[in-house]
Amino acid sequence: MKVLVIGKGGREHALCWKLKQSPRVTAVFCAPGNAGTALDVQNVAIEAHDLRGLAQFARREGIDLTVVGPEEPLTKGIVDLFQREGLRIFGPRRDAAELEGSKVFAKELMRQAGIPTADYRIFRSAPDAEHYVLSREVALVIRSRGRSTIRNTIHARTAAEALDAVERILDPREMMGPGVQVEIEDRGTRKAYSSVVEARDAVLSCPVGLVVKADGLAAGKGVYVCGTVREALTAIDQVMIRRVYGQAGDRLLIEERLDGRETSILALTDGRTIVPLASSQDYKRALDGDQGPNTGGMGAFSPTPMVTPELMQQVEREILVPVVHALKRARRPFRGVLYAGLMLTNQGPKVLEFNVRFGDPETQVILMRLKSDLLDAIEAVVDERLDSTALEWDSRPSVTVVMAAEGYPGPYERNRVIQNLPQVDAMKDVKVFHAGTKPRPDPEPGRGPRVVSDGGRVLNVTALGDDLAAARDRAYQAVRAVRFPGGIYRRDIAEGIDATPTA
Ligand code: AMP
Repeated sequence: MKVLVIGKGGREHALCWKLKQSPRVTAVFCAPGNAGTALDVQNVAIEAHDLRGLAQFARREGIDLTVVGPEEPLTKGIVDLFQREGLRIFGPRRDAAELEGSKVFAKELMRQAGIPTADYRIFRSAPDAEHYVLSREVALVIRSRGRSTIRNTIHARTAAEALDAVERILDPREMMGPGVQVEIEDRGTRKAYSSVVEARDAVLSCPVGLVVKADGLAAGKGVYVCGTVREALTAIDQVMIRRVYGQAGDRLLIEERLDGRETSILALTDGRTIVPLASSQDYKRALDGDQGPNTGGMGAFSPTPMVTPELMQQVEREILVPVVHALKRARRPFRGVLYAGLMLTNQGPKVLEFNVRFGDPETQVILMRLKSDLLDAIEAVVDERLDSTALEWDSRPSVTVVMAAEGYPGPYERNRVIQNLPQVDAMKDVKVFHAGTKPRPDPEPGRGPRVVSDGGRVLNVTALGDDLAAARDRAYQAVRAVRFPGGIYRRDIAEGIDATPTA
């Protein structure tokens, strides 16, 4: 069988690597791929958004099965297009991919299906959204100091009331003498201001627990976890007024901020049967100790003790089964891999988001442990016979460490030559999945192409070990052996985990 994988990241390299191991696979192509997929399989120079070009290639080459990595082609309808042309493809159709493509759609579906998630409101205009933020409950006490016509103490229940109070107190027309000040008491701390600008600023700094989200796809961005009124107003401004995500910001969601620990669960589904994949835990922040900005993911490990068998069952019962059924009832049957991003709150797991594809870098650690034939599992989804499929996992844990370009997730340099990769790949139970790399012809004749960096997240150095500590040690040993000038990585992936193997 000939298989085509669409995408160019570490996830796609892992998919290619695993699919190639299937005895039924004769050729694997990756479009457009990276330097790693060029070594393991065959790259095709077609971008993931060129749906027609991909379908033409699949037809011309006689591809038997296509596997889609990223969300964008799915939300643009690549599965619908391939199916219309009689081409077999793994992934949800456009209308089911809306689950990731529109946060508004996902939230409304969850509400209808009674799936636990943060409370939310939907907005179509910036003033409405701002009004909502300013009418959130706050607890500020505003007092006038000095001679003013305004009564002494005002208990403001919302930021709007507080702003109104400070503006009235500091309105020169209300002052009956010089030296009038406004005092703002916020959770026992009092401070006095003579300037309206400073007093307004203090009100806007008061805490609220809100999350502002652009409705549409925003390349992993477009979500603002806001600690203050000002942050929430700034987020609305970015999404709806400055429109930094374009049309993705036509609608906006504001939801309550949830507290707890985050995890994710991935499952295969053919629209009826659900087969969860091994659990995994990823690291989103750029720096050790979960500091620094959010990224696409700096590392992961599998399995995670956070996902106990009981939690897995609860998530299946309360989240995965209801969402798959709700999509079916809505005549948008979901076939593919469903990714539930979860917050484990005091009231149980709640959904932060759904993705409609494999996670990156979770897939790298999950596939490293998959013993079953991935092609069999994927075909069972496509042919709607997942009920006869059981997956077998390596009991050994896996760890992946992302090597990124210095500066990521901010601006970074490309085209750094990376060396020693064949030696690292030859280490036992180690696999280097390439993410942002490309091959560059070696200037010396007769030598193969060099690997150069071509993205923010560059390599996913992945290892298995007898226990989590051994897997981590091996992964870091491999990371240290990679010669990547300007490469950075977190040093605490899979560290400090009480690793009782679970799901
Ligand atoms: P999303 O793309 O919706 O998963 O959001 C990206 C990140 O924002 C999540 O991984 C969380 O860290 C955070 N986040 C999203 N929604 C919430 C929420 N309701 N409460 C707290 N954090 C959230």
